[in-house]
Amino acid sequence: MATTARVQALDRRVYERIAAGEVIERPANVVKELVENALDAGAMKVSTEVRGGGVELIRVRDDGAGMDREDALLAIQRYTTSKLASLDDLDTLGTLGFRGEALASIAAVSKMELVTKTADATTGTRISIQGGEVISVDDVGSTTGTAIEVRDLFYNVPARRRFMKGPGPEGARVTDAVQRLALTRLDVHFVHVVAGREVLNAPPASSLQDRAVAVLGRDTARYMFPIIDTDPDDKVDVSGIVGKPQLARPNRAQLYVSVNGRPVDAPTVAEAVRAAYGEILFRGRWPVAIVEVGVEPSRVDVNVHPAKREVLFRDAQMVAGAVEDGVRATLADADLVTEAAPRRREAPLDVGVPTEPEVDVSLVVPDVAEAGAASAQTDLAGGVLEEDRLRSALDFTPIVGEEPRSEDIGHIPSWLVSLRPVGQIMDTYIVCEGEDAMYLIDQHALAERLTYESIKASAAHGRLKQQTMLEPIVLQPTEGQLGVLEARRDALESLGFAFFNAEDGSLHVTALPSMLGQKLTQEEVDVLLQDLLSGETSGTVTTKEEAIRSMSCHLSIRAGQRLTPKQVVALLRGMAGSHDPLACVHGRPTAIRVTKGELERMFKRTE
Ligand code: ADP
Ligand code: MG
Repeated sequence: MATTARVQALDRRVYERIAAGEVIERPANVVKELVENALDAGAMKVSTEVRGGGVELIRVRDDGAGMDREDALLAIQRYTTSKLASLDDLDTLGTLGFRGEALASIAAVSKMELVTKTADATTGTRISIQGGEVISVDDVGSTTGTAIEVRDLFYNVPARRRFMKGPGPEGARVTDAVQRLALTRLDVHFVHVVAGREVLNAPPASSLQDRAVAVLGRDTARYMFPIIDTDPDDKVDVSGIVGKPQLARPNRAQLYVSVNGRPVDAPTVAEAVRAAYGEILFRGRWPVAIVEVGVEPSRVDVNVHPAKREVLFRDAQMVAGAVEDGVRATLADADLVTEAAPRRREAPLDVGVPTEPEVDVSLVVPDVAEAGAASAQTDLAGGVLEEDRLRSALDFTPIVGEEPRSEDIGHIPSWLVSLRPVGQIMDTYIVCEGEDAMYLIDQHALAERLTYESIKASAAHGRLKQQTMLEPIVLQPTEGQLGVLEARRDALESLGFAFFNAEDGSLHVTALPSMLGQKLTQEEVDVLLQDLLSGETSGTVTTKEEAIRSMSCHLSIRAGQRLTPKQVVALLRGMAGSHDPLACVHGRPTAIRVTKGELERMFKRTE
């Protein structure tokens, strides 16, 4: 390991280019700076610890190169660094910290103790500093490396201290900062302790997947897939792992982005990852993902903000494109079925809680009297369907729509090919058996997805088939509804609706897309029309799109409807022919898998 370069005071021009303003806003910044220093010093193992959210105590130990006494004393002065010698270095520097002010800033607002020793020294050095004043410097026995203790953060800056959110939130930010670093340096052993409890222990890992198990927990990591870089030769390298839609969260907290090996805040990349998921994600959700983007250092501005470390790309479009393509290709190949796996309490932040499965299996005592009645619903299992695995799924019959789209159906996922319907329960869910798993399918969610795709395909070739009404449907719209109609009129007419505003204020519907007339009763058509004229717009989709979604919902098999075996087969075949069979148009899952393993766990057949 290289010995530390001489710490030197920076050229004045250099530090003028360094962002002014405090680097240190909260404990998480302190921890990040200290861990980055440890990594820069070549540490193989970094141990961090906080108490009181980091305000009371922060301790960071590493087994890196350490410092001799002279360097250590210099290091705690402002604008000293061993990492760059000239102005030009600022642009190309590969190390994590380069402002040369972190240690000094932290020392100025806390009671700090620094113990450090280089490999060739026999004794180490201990320096105590309070509010930036060196209190003592002694010899001390120590192993090679550096240990820094920061106590009473902001004890002399009451305004800043009042700004702290308390041990819980501040501690969580610290943990997040350590996790982000741990996800970028697989070769380093990270241990993180919060208030005496070890919440992270990540030994060196040979793959990101292994590291993700240690950082995010097995229940998350097992549902993540390696990103395929679709264009490995271009200027942007994309790698990482992305999670099943079911892991998605209401915010970006578990969308970890690094650029050239540094954890950064990169909205461009986060948005691109989300875009790749498209409709599979429930509205407003963000996927769990760990994404590393590699670009030539000169094409990226890091550190536009000293504390948050946002990045700006010179070619943001290109980066976003590469990320989106890669993630999309990954998802196209991945098995995205929602897993009914109970969350075992082994998430890193929940240690201390016993690792009991968190499953609520209510005991059901079979009622003999009802057994006969119940079997009426399960007789799909016998006879024809037993043989009817969906291997010939390509000749599916669409639920609605003019022509089958078998020509543009890609490969059918293997879990779907072997799906065998067993029955319908609660007049709402289709129960199927697949490879070593049971599948529950929400009949309405699936039917809605298929209808939607079918209408969309038809609408793409111009207007839907139109049916002129012999007797117009006469509506008495409110002022509000008339307003909505005017806003949506073009979109609705492009789908085959025709309206006539009568002089008496009533609204005549003179034509409809013919599929509505064929499939819906008069009453159902009325309900749909009310729906189309209601003011609810989500803002994210176009009016035409919204109208198609609304029509799909009204045209589709509903929950609570008893299905014939033929309908069940039609639905499953439709699923095999669908582009996006796993989410309804609102992003709810259409299918849930309970694996044999999960069942065995629930029945305590295995651990
Ligand atoms: P910077 O990291 O930007 O150089 P810092 O204030 O964070 O500035 O650190 C100042 C210097 O102190 C570093 O350049 C490095 O030489 C030294 N240093 C800080 N922490 C460590 C450490 N854990 N191990 C070895 N050297 C360190
Ligand atoms: Mg630093």
